[in-house]
Amino acid sequence: MTELKSFIDDEEILKALSKKSTKEDVKYVLRKAADPESTGLSLEEAAILLNNTDPEMDEEIFSIPQRVKQHIYGRRMVLFAPLYVSNTCVNNCLYCGFRTDNKSLKRKFLTIPEIQREVEILERMGHKRLLLVYGEANYQPEDLVEDIEAVYAVKTLPSGEIRRVNVNIAPMDVDGFKVLQKAHIGTFQCFQETYHRQTYEKVHVSGPKSNYLYRLYAPHRAMEAGIEDVGIGALYGLYDYKFETLAVLKHAQTLEKDMGVGPHTVSFPRLEPALGSEMSYNPPYRVSDYEMKKIVAVTRLAIPYTGMIISTRERPEFRMELIKLGISQLSGGSKVSPGTYEDKNVNHEEKQQFMVADERTLDEVIYDLVQHEYLPSFCTGCYRHKRVGDMFMGLAKKTFIKDLCFPNAILTFAEYLRDYASPQTKEAGQKLIQKLLAEQGSPKRITDQLDRVHQGVCDVFF
Ligand code: SAM
Ligand code: SF4
Repeated sequence: MTELKSFIDDEEILKALSKKSTKEDVKYVLRKAADPESTGLSLEEAAILLNNTDPEMDEEIFSIPQRVKQHIYGRRMVLFAPLYVSNTCVNNCLYCGFRTDNKSLKRKFLTIPEIQREVEILERMGHKRLLLVYGEANYQPEDLVEDIEAVYAVKTLPSGEIRRVNVNIAPMDVDGFKVLQKAHIGTFQCFQETYHRQTYEKVHVSGPKSNYLYRLYAPHRAMEAGIEDVGIGALYGLYDYKFETLAVLKHAQTLEKDMGVGPHTVSFPRLEPALGSEMSYNPPYRVSDYEMKKIVAVTRLAIPYTGMIISTRERPEFRMELIKLGISQLSGGSKVSPGTYEDKNVNHEEKQQFMVADERTLDEVIYDLVQHEYLPSFCTGCYRHKRVGDMFMGLAKKTFIKDLCFPNAILTFAEYLRDYASPQTKEAGQKLIQKLLAEQGSPKRITDQLDRVHQGVCDVFF
């Protein structure tokens, strides 16, 4: 086998970051990014935005991503929940509460009936998309397939079912990914944590995860195995945020060049305190809220067609600020330890991965989105109609996604309002649907399908 070579070239990134940005440079890059035909930014252009220190120009940087996102995706905001299946782990990532040396953590690997009970609860909240999360343990791809099939098998009345299962698991080899692909997973998500190799080696002290290159190429292998949607990201706080942001961009460009399509999603986890991890309380490169806003805004402009995810690691009001800067997917009502959807009395700090900052219920998250006129979406239509990978990106690039995303968001949100919402959310949500439909001239093709939802038909989508 030929030796893998890292596509992250520190010198290339540092060179891009070495140039001071002038007001003219920033204006030039923003003009390019704001062009409806923009396909994104180069490393040098993204570096110009990251390096800007003029507050007035930063405000300009913050003003554009929302427009770019809305041009491509409209006002829809996709919702999901994580389902932690296991917190047992053979690795020793210094920042994580699940690391093998954390002897105070209560370990748990959910059984199939336990997984199904968690899924039932999530379905009764109204969730349709789950992200299964595992520590790295001695499991086989076939075990994961069994778990995923068990998730899809849970049906609760009236419209309760999980329609897309994404996974955040340790990287596998191509054969392993092939097995997983057959279980109809949506996205394979795997964060590089830090793209800075020396830092990577310092914080991953033992276990299979200490192999930087094996992890770096995990999305390549997943795609080679036929998994079309992959999710990438850096764990902000481990190393310089500007370096990591350009490295994520480089990763996206490399996937596009090598595999014909970039990542389906980019996530922005920021290091949160985790019991049993000293480092997590004192991040080596703490990222401020302001820097986080720059990261999200610049990423949206640099890779405009990519889904961007924010989790409940962030506080509610700050999540809303990030949504305005280009986030397109968020989790709601999340628990980050195995079994805690079901067992509410458990002291979940003893089992959880990190502290959750947004503890609102899914309904509360949705009500807040509606108040800000974002359209909550439970759509899984693209994946189920095989609009994935390069096909999805092709559609997104032509902005057709807006024509599919908008109606599908309306229909799946109407189903949520019908079956799961509180009276307050139901009233506010229905008003928003009417308003957004009126703005589009109430197209018959959508209103006819909406009538079917109101008559009780489930799972209506284009
Ligand atoms: N074990 C698998 C892995 O490491 O890829 C997947 C699950 S791991 C629980 C999911 C992600 O949680 C990691 O990739 C990391 O980015 C994030 N994470 C770990 N510790 C964290 C912390 N203290 N605060 C925020 N996110 C953290
Ligand atoms: Fe294990 Fe993942 Fe946590 Fe590392 S980040 S200790 S691999 S669960």
